[in-house]
Amino acid sequence: MTNYRGRLAPSPTGLLHRGHARTFWTAQERARSQNGALVLRNEDLDAARCRPEFVSAMFEDLRWAGLHWDEGPDCGGNRGPYSQSQRRELYVAAFERLRAGGCIYTCTCSRQDVLRALQAPHVPDDEPIYPGTCRPEPRVEGRVSREDVLRLSLDPRPSSLKTNWRFQVPDGEIVSFTDGRCGPQQFVSGKDFGDFIVWRHDDVPSYQLAVVVDDAAMGITEVVRGEDLLRSTARQLLLYRALGQAPPRFYHCPLLSDEAGVRLAKRHNALSLRALRAKGVKPEELWQKPSV
Ligand code: GLU
Repeated sequence: MTNYRGRLAPSPTGLLHRGHARTFWTAQERARSQNGALVLRNEDLDAARCRPEFVSAMFEDLRWAGLHWDEGPDCGGNRGPYSQSQRRELYVAAFERLRAGGCIYTCTCSRQDVLRALQAPHVPDDEPIYPGTCRPEPRVEGRVSREDVLRLSLDPRPSSLKTNWRFQVPDGEIVSFTDGRCGPQQFVSGKDFGDFIVWRHDDVPSYQLAVVVDDAAMGITEVVRGEDLLRSTARQLLLYRALGQAPPRFYHCPLLSDEAGVRLAKRHNALSLRALRAKGVKPEELWQKPSV
């Protein structure tokens, strides 16, 4: 095996559909072509929406679709645990590092923003650009601000804080990267995306924080996922830098739509892998006939 490490990162919030399978298939092909390893990570942070039956369906449906992974919650590996619900200490450690670096601040705004923060955003419902209401005053070199005093006097455990925490993005910085499929990408922080949530008031790390911590800790060298996450990649690059971690490479796949042109989502149960299988579709047809 080479040192290529890819990953599949499904969330057990519903049944997986052809679009997931296609992206995962690409991830598998890329790992195989490099003679690398593939990790399955169960992204089950959202206790309210994740269900055990979707976890078992996820394994069964992905295996049926012809996917194989080398490490995961079902087969182990030395970079586990492979379910996000069991990785809290790593997220807390990253949170502490961001806090010690003065990169994050407490925020009491908008419940809607916060709800969105837990899931990987899809472009139309991407985390809105935060207007900066709770942003701390700019620091004066060498002076301790009121905000600092408050921050230092807080209990260090995020769980004790009934507030959201946001990552303060550098306004106007161009964040660029070269995507393996989409080519050169550029986003302006503060304009294309704003200060984003890293920890929710109900004591759960956000998607953005958890995915960066996990991809780094699991030694992922290339992230293959849907192109709805290109903008999130820019956010995540800022997190990698703030956490002192080298980012992986990125390869964003096209998204699948139904016949009416609507992007496939977990609510399209009729196009779930499970429903296709029940209709007698064969796994190999998933990749060959775009209309099944
Ligand atoms: N669990 C996330 C999702 O379902 C994964 C996103 C990613 O690959 O970073 O969209």
